Amino acid sequence: MITTRKGRVFSGARPTGRQHLGNYLGAIKNYVALQDEFDCVYCIVDIHALTTVETTENLTQNIYEMALDFLAAGIKPQESIVFIQSQVPEVTELHTFFSMVTPLGKLTDLPTFKEKVRMHPNNINYGLVGYPVLMAADIALYKADTVPVGVDQAPHIEFTREVVRSFNYRYHTNVLVEPQMKATEYPKVIGIDGQQKMSKSLDNHIELAATPEETNQRVMQMVTDPQRMRRSDPGNPEICNVYSLHKVFSDPSEVSMVNTECRKAGIGCVQCKQLLAKNLNQNLEAFRQRRSELAQKPDQVWDILRDGKDKARAIAGQTINEVKQAIGLPI
Ligand code: SF4
Repeated sequence: MITTRKGRVFSGARPTGRQHLGNYLGAIKNYVALQDEFDCVYCIVDIHALTTVETTENLTQNIYEMALDFLAAGIKPQESIVFIQSQVPEVTELHTFFSMVTPLGKLTDLPTFKEKVRMHPNNINYGLVGYPVLMAADIALYKADTVPVGVDQAPHIEFTREVVRSFNYRYHTNVLVEPQMKATEYPKVIGIDGQQKMSKSLDNHIELAATPEETNQRVMQMVTDPQRMRRSDPGNPEICNVYSLHKVFSDPSEVSMVNTECRKAGIGCVQCKQLLAKNLNQNLEAFRQRRSELAQKPDQVWDILRDGKDKARAIAGQTINEVKQAIGLPI
């Protein structure tokens, strides 16, 4: 079992299969960095996914592909716990106990619930309403004191704190920990359409594990400064997504060159994109190498997830015993 050094981080991610640049810059990169500072518990939240997925046909494969990306990106299973939510049934127990201290109106008032209702008007299931309760159980089960989230997720963490407070108050205990939110600046990564957030469902993404050729193709499709119609037109890099990605993946000298030359039409968009694609492929080379090596041994990936499940269950079992004792249930 991992030992607590400077506190414990919990984060859950839906199994969305092969990850893209938006997932990497928005979450995975941070997951990897947090390992230096915290004991980290990273959960692939497949039960959460069931609230909205239309088919579970690819669920297992999506879990596997996502785990491959996490591990290849640098999540270290010897230091962190990486596991699948549904393999730790204690979370559903805690979810049930939490549901007794959660007013229904609070759940239906959450902006995220209203948004989901808008998005899935024909599938407003019970699980959707209880989603934040399950999320609270995810966090509290591992006594995580730190949850990295973007500002849009802040209401969920506040909700978790309230549920934990209500539980501790109701049963006169302090067995559960109120987590703190670690506000993280997640850069909003725009897709190759130059307009919307990068997302698989919008097919505007660039996969981390794409081949160099696929990456080149996707980069060449990227929408640039719409005012720059001809090669001789000066452009504005500040409104161009190609430039945004240069800032992340290119050397400072190249970023500065693009910034200067684009404004005076000294560089064409094709050349600019070729440079970005080259740098992207270079940046991702080591990741792709590790991923393809790991993919040769799928059993090893499943073993890591099973080992993560055992470590997670050791903590979860202990918490559930304490929770039951606090409630007054026999254990
Ligand atoms: S030169 Fe580069 S930064 Fe400028 S508009 Fe073209 S792609 Fe965008």
